[in-house]
Amino acid sequence: MTQVKHCQIAIMGAGVAGCIAALALSRHFQVLLIDKQAACPDKVGECLPPAAARILRSLDLLHAFEQRQDLHMPNYGIRSHWGSEHGLINDTLSNPDGTGWQLNRAGFENWLREQVTARGIETLWPAKLLDAQPGSDGWLLHLAKQTQVQASAQSIAVPCHFVIDATGRHSAFATKLGLKRKVLDKQIALWASLDCAMENQLACINTSPQGWWYSAKLPAQRRILALQTDSDLLKKGLQHDLSQFCRLARSQAGLKALLPKGIEQSGSMQLHGVVSANSTCLTQTAGHRWAALGDAACSFDPLSSQGMFNAMATAMQLTNSLIGHGLTDPSAMIDIARLHQTQIGTIWQHYLSHRAHYYGQEQRWPDAPYWQRRHTQKNAEFS
Ligand SMILES: Cc1cc2nc3c(=O)[nH]c(=O)nc-3n(C[C@H](O)[C@H](O)[C@H](O)COP(=O)(O)OP(=O)(O)OC[C@H]3O[C@@H](n4cnc5c(N)ncnc54)[C@H](O)[C@@H]3O)c2cc1C
Repeated sequence: MTQVKHCQIAIMGAGVAGCIAALALSRHFQVLLIDKQAACPDKVGECLPPAAARILRSLDLLHAFEQRQDLHMPNYGIRSHWGSEHGLINDTLSNPDGTGWQLNRAGFENWLREQVTARGIETLWPAKLLDAQPGSDGWLLHLAKQTQVQASAQSIAVPCHFVIDATGRHSAFATKLGLKRKVLDKQIALWASLDCAMENQLACINTSPQGWWYSAKLPAQRRILALQTDSDLLKKGLQHDLSQFCRLARSQAGLKALLPKGIEQSGSMQLHGVVSANSTCLTQTAGHRWAALGDAACSFDPLSSQGMFNAMATAMQLTNSLIGHGLTDPSAMIDIARLHQTQIGTIWQHYLSHRAHYYGQEQRWPDAPYWQRRHTQKNAEFS
């Protein structure tokens, strides 16, 4: 039997974008937050920029977040070997918003989910979107909820006035509508985490002919190490071979000291595998009573370290539009979609020019395909 769950705004995806949108919108609307996963699993992407403090404060989350010392540590800055063998340090010490944080990323997202439930917002997970039917004043979503007691999924219908697609790079709702993404490149990240008692708390970036490496300290004396390259340039089998991954990392001058001899056999280092890390943007980011947020709207190269902030900021922008216009006036709904498209379009244009600028600064391997591709690309094709 199909269960019916009414709400005004259905948010697909309980990552950073979805949780922040749910927390902000729930002050004014009846919200349902849906995710395909019962909890956030291990996840890469740990640097939360200082400006995020303003958004957390505006939602009365900052104090509680700061109390949770197990979820974060200060981010003092980064040493980058980009375009030169000499390291450049960019510190956060003089930032008026503070230093920002290095997160236990899964811990942070699960904490955000706890804040959502603690504020009485209705949630549905794990649940998958099967179908979405438009109506004159909203949508009818059909979902399948997996339960622990029943072998078969439970069918749930969600009538709502507005849908937010916050499903990350999958943009699951927009994809159901037949929309496509502009894809700039084939970048992936192969990432590992390891025990690390070293005191040096600066993150570091090192370039190499096949891409670039990133490493940063995490809470609980852990460290992340990731190689960014294009999927077709990744050496075959590397994503399953910790020893080979360590050998390659040790060949980078700046990374050798992070990987003590024998760590790959010690059980204290895990190779998590490959995730998409390319730059992509939906061809349409809002429409009839729906809008896409965060990575679902546009996903950035990890070099920017702005993905989570963008997810939070786009959630707050859309919230302000929805509060300002309400959900009833059809012409206001059209204005909201237009404004959202324009705002995301502006963010994307700025991002494209920053990306071209940063990749243009590394000219040491003019014959390496990874760098050639980025130097010859024309932004206009992806605007
Ligand atoms: C290698 C790497 C390093 C990065 N480093 C940083 C960094 O240091 N700092 C930073 O700010 N950003 C970083 N990012 C980017 C950052 O992780 C993303 O921008 C951020 O996760 C976007 O949040 P989101 O909520 O939009 O999407 P996501 O985090 O992708 O969340 C989407 C949610 O939707 C759910 N979902 C997916 N499909 C469905 C479906 N069909 N139905 C229901 N739910 C669904 C998922 O389970 C998930 O919970 C990095 C990214 C990569 C790849």
